[in-house]
Formats: sequence, C-alpha cells, structure tokens
Amino acid sequence: MKHWLLFVKMFWQKALTNRGEPMLIRTVINRCHKIKGFTYGNVSWGKSKGENILEVEVMPRKNTKGLCSVCKRPGPTYDTGKSPRRFEFIPLWGYAVVLLYHMRRVSCKEHGIRVEYIPWADGKHQLCRVYQQFLANWARRLSWSETARIFKTSWQSVYRSVEWIVHWGLERRDVKGVTAIGVDEIQYQRGHKYLTVIYQLNEGCRRLLWVGKDRTARTMLRFFRKFGEEWSEGIQFVCSDMWKPYLKVIRKKIKNAVHILDRYHIVANLNKAIDKVRAEETRRLEQEGYEPILKHTRWCFLKRGKNLTDRQRFKLKDIL
Ligand SMILES: [Zn+2]
Repeated sequence: MKHWLLFVKMFWQKALTNRGEPMLIRTVINRCHKIKGFTYGNVSWGKSKGENILEVEVMPRKNTKGLCSVCKRPGPTYDTGKSPRRFEFIPLWGYAVVLLYHMRRVSCKEHGIRVEYIPWADGKHQLCRVYQQFLANWARRLSWSETARIFKTSWQSVYRSVEWIVHWGLERRDVKGVTAIGVDEIQYQRGHKYLTVIYQLNEGCRRLLWVGKDRTARTMLRFFRKFGEEWSEGIQFVCSDMWKPYLKVIRKKIKNAVHILDRYHIVANLNKAIDKVRAEETRRLEQEGYEPILKHTRWCFLKRGKNLTDRQRFKLKDIL
C-alpha cells in the first residue's frame, strides 16, 4: 500500500475514534449497575407527578430461569406480571430514574408458586438497593427532608433507606462493648409523628444503633428485644430526655445503668417546678391576707444576679 494512502487511512480512523461511538444510557447503567441474570432494555422518557423521568426496562437474560424467592433455586416460569413493577434508581442528571420490570412467578419444587427473587431490591421496597445506600449516605450529611427534596423522593423513602441500612449494618456489625447509649426522639410530619433513635455514646464512638417508629414504651421494648438481655446488661450509662415511656422502660430493662437526664429537659422541668411553687405560694399568701410579693417574680428567680433590674433586685431581697 502506498504511504500516503496509509496516512489517509490512519487519519480517517483517528477522526472516527475521537468522535467515539454513540454511548447509550443503557451502556452507562450496565457499567455501574450490572445485574447478574438480567439485561437492560429500552430507555425512554416517562412522566411522574408532572416531571420528566427516565424509564429503563429490565429483562431477564435469555435462557435463564427465575429464582425462587425463598430458596433462591431456579425454577420454570409459572407466569409473568402484566404491568411492570417500578423501582426507583439513582437519579441521573437531575432526572429521576425508574427501572421497569415484569415480575415472574416461579414454580419451585419445594415451595410451590413463588414470586421470583430479584437481586436489585428487597421484595417489599420500591427503591433499588443502590438507591437506598445512596440516600442513606446523603442522609448522614443532610437532613432527611433535604435529602428527599434534593433527590426528588419522599421523606418516607429516605427514612426507610436509613432504617434498612441500619438494620442491614446491625446484622453484620459488632455491637459488643457498647456501655453507653443515648435515646432521642425525632419529630416528623410537622411534629405529628415521632421516631425514636438510639445511638452509642461511648467515648470516641458515636454511632446510630437503632431507629424505630413512634416514641412509646412499645418502641423502646422493641429495641431491647432486638438487642437482647445479655447485651443490655452491659449498658452502664443511658442518656435520655424525660419522656415518661422512655423512663419507664429504661428503669425496667436496664435498672443498673446510671440514667443521665438531658440537661435541657432538667432545666425546663426545674423552671416548671419553680413556677408551680411560686403560683401556689402566691395563692396561699393571698388567702392568708399577705401582700402577694411572689407575683411577677418569675424573672427574679430565673435571671442571673447581674442581669436583674434594680426593682427586681429589691423584690428578690424581700422574698429571701
Ligand atoms: Zn424454593
């Protein structure tokens, strides 16, 4: 071949490779989230709540059988779902991504007809596992509601992701040697609902141990049941606020632990107690015909000495 022809050919090839082959979203998702036994199909635009979303088809690889969701052994397909199930995936370029998959039912020799096992999500969840991990990771840096807003998902989804990760982690994590725990409550849905969160408080180690719905005695009992009696006996310190159901269960379940009540709540309760005593005293004085000097004195008790006004200082002197 003539030299100049070779040059032209090389140039031509280089120009081609620089431009590259068209890359499909399918190629990208296949690279970052390969699912054994399944392939990705068409990617298309869809609509959800008035917003554009990317819908990605998932299909079983040819000549593969579905796995029984109980024993994970392959079995012949019994039937295939008519409408696809939707699984939220990690958003791409600001668009929500949803995987669509027609679930098969498998007839298992041992378990009969069962819905198939899918490796990318838990049976009940409509969020892909990778997306749950993704959300839970962000939820450590942002508030849960911020996380939900930014990634266009619901607060519930973020909560469930954190819960799932925590439980997943717990089953594989060493919780031995925890001697101090903190109990806290989180309000959500404008303060109408509560979560109880329990974390390890040991020196140099603060980590989330458990999340549970509500803030009832039953919530706390669920926690202690999950961690077991032996584990609970190792707890020497527990820190919580003065929410009665917590106090009740803590007193019952870990009686030997030193219970540190939240400083903020103690102060708030002390203030309440002072108010109560003051009101009662005022009433008593009035009834007995004394001049009610305790009226309008609340601030004298609660203020630091140097912040008192002159009038208040005199009043305080009178009382003491
Ligand atoms: Zn089976």
